[in-house]
Amino acid sequence: MTITRFAPSPTGYIHVGNLRTALMNFLIARKAGGTFILRIDDTDPERSKEDYVDAIKQDLEWLGLHWDRVERQSQRLDRYAEAADKLREMGRFYEAFETPTELDLKRKKQLNMGRPPVYDRAALRLSEEDKAALRAERGNGVWRFKLNHERIVWQDGILGEISIDAASVSDPVLIRGDGQVLYTLASVVDDTEMGVTHVVRGSDHVTNTATQIQIIEALGGMVPQFAHHSLLTGPQGESLSKRLGTLSLRDLRAQGVQPAALLSLMARLGSADPVELQAEMANLIEGFDISRFGAAPTKFDANDLFPLTARYLQTLPYADVAERIRALGVPDDKAELFWQVTRENITTLDDLNGWWGMFRDGAEPVIAPEDAEFVAQAMALLPDGPHDTETWGQWTNAVKEATGRKGKGLFMPLRLALTGQARGPEMAQVLPLLQVIRARG
Ligand code: GLU
Repeated sequence: MTITRFAPSPTGYIHVGNLRTALMNFLIARKAGGTFILRIDDTDPERSKEDYVDAIKQDLEWLGLHWDRVERQSQRLDRYAEAADKLREMGRFYEAFETPTELDLKRKKQLNMGRPPVYDRAALRLSEEDKAALRAERGNGVWRFKLNHERIVWQDGILGEISIDAASVSDPVLIRGDGQVLYTLASVVDDTEMGVTHVVRGSDHVTNTATQIQIIEALGGMVPQFAHHSLLTGPQGESLSKRLGTLSLRDLRAQGVQPAALLSLMARLGSADPVELQAEMANLIEGFDISRFGAAPTKFDANDLFPLTARYLQTLPYADVAERIRALGVPDDKAELFWQVTRENITTLDDLNGWWGMFRDGAEPVIAPEDAEFVAQAMALLPDGPHDTETWGQWTNAVKEATGRKGKGLFMPLRLALTGQARGPEMAQVLPLLQVIRARG
């Protein structure tokens, strides 16, 4: 049974980087017919906000990334305490009292001597009396997991074989002085107890993974298959970390990006397979293969989402947009034609507003001086409405007969007079939609 999870911390809105993680875990679970868990990593009561939990759920639902179960770390604190006791009994857990400033100083010294800034385990040499004295002076210490100094090796689903020398990593703090359990422990307890089989996350977690593998083993759990995807950069390879705030899923949604566009891009970006629009989730699931992804940083350009959105909108039948079009005030008998005419000429659904504004109010005519007489003559021949899709053909035939003009010399001045633009949808379809023809004078 394949079990994956997406484990956001509800300390902000989710962005394209998080989406990549969510999507990969979702696709792995769905492809295997397994379970996808939404795990809310809310062990930090100060930074976690209920509003963000709701927002994360809304964003995932908007994308169709439905989860099978929600778990919340804040409701599992007793499980973490149990695991901590177990580690303590095993002698793999020790209390340390250094202040952040002291740790900083140690790190600087090590770096000056050209050594890796790894915690020196000074706390292991404290006697019970020393600890009691420090506790009295500084309050409770933090709890660190004592790594076994050996190589930690795993076969990464994206990065291939990874081997990390545990001696080059600091013993991770799993419990803070104020008793707050940290993600590193909570995540391991959850993954183990929930039977998580595959963990995909960003490559910023690689070192975490090394320490977590040892914690899982200490607790007697099964080590899941890990895969670390590369981090996203901007189009020029620049870091996205500062801009991710503006690349939240809700911002993209507000800009009119369609879920299918976002999913199609994120399911392929950074892989050896081309990005192609997939309107159906089933096809995304079928075509997903994590081993196709590479380790190199992945360039992300939000502008790529708009052509995909446009292409997706072109595939939509009228029924899918009927409500939105009626809400614009398009008369019922014109609504379907309006969609046929506009769908090839929009990037996002918001562009429909502009089109309807043009049809409703009529466009400002553009009439070249040398065409003024011709246009006046043609307008006199335009039958009164209502117009249908035959009107344009009949009318332009009559104009041709009366004026002798044909081809572009005939059509272009009329298009400009009716729409104010040299380009646009078929005039035969435009004419019946125009509620006002300003060129009539
Ligand atoms: N809450 C963690 C994060 O957002 C989860 C990492 C993981 O997938 O284990 O970074």
